[in-house]
Amino acid sequence: GHFAIAIDGPAASGKSTLARELAQRLGLVMVNSGAMYRAVTWQVMQAGVDPENPAAVAEALEHMVLDCGVDGLDSTLTINGVDPGEALRSSEVNAHVSQVSAVPEVRRKLVELQRSYLDHSDVVMEGRDIGTAVFPETPYKIYVDADPAVRQERRCAAGEVDSVSDRDRRDSQRQTDPLRVADGARVLDNSGHTVESAVEEALVILRE
Ligand code: C5P
Repeated sequence: GHFAIAIDGPAASGKSTLARELAQRLGLVMVNSGAMYRAVTWQVMQAGVDPENPAAVAEALEHMVLDCGVDGLDSTLTINGVDPGEALRSSEVNAHVSQVSAVPEVRRKLVELQRSYLDHSDVVMEGRDIGTAVFPETPYKIYVDADPAVRQERRCAAGEVDSVSDRDRRDSQRQTDPLRVADGARVLDNSGHTVESAVEEALVILRE
């Protein structure tokens, strides 16, 4: 069977960069599960549905076709046939993605898609609940943390309008699979790391 490396952590902790580098070094497919929650949020807003209304979001989800695939070591995603591209990182999506991803029906559908990657590939998957809910059985779990000020600064430096602390609060307080350190996960504090030194520490953790 195929295996997964689970990388979880709060917003802007550097987990995407770490996951991408690990995937390249190890020759595994990299899956950004946050992009799936962002795509659903983007489509909710395209459809003019109120992202704060869980019942309306669950209804809108019924009309969404998500197609997740693989292109080399990258994962691909379309929603109703469209790749939203950079729109996934817009300030509107940043502002509403945590509410949309708290809807249980949304999580159920996306977790199923995330698990289906293992039918075909070994993966490095990053998100909030990969080690707790998506692949709780994997022995490879890393929780990437970093100082909140460092994380907010990273998003601002990237030119993004994004309240990291609002998302973290909602992501940790929701009912279904909130952000937390998974059983068996090792915490990697990314605050003082370069990309290279974070990858080295992660490789040491994974070999232990
Ligand atoms: O990883 P990223 O910051 O792009 O994720 C965007 C949002 O998607 C998170 O703030 C969270 O609300 C949601 N998410 C989630 N579970 C995941 C990945 C992302 O709820 N596994």
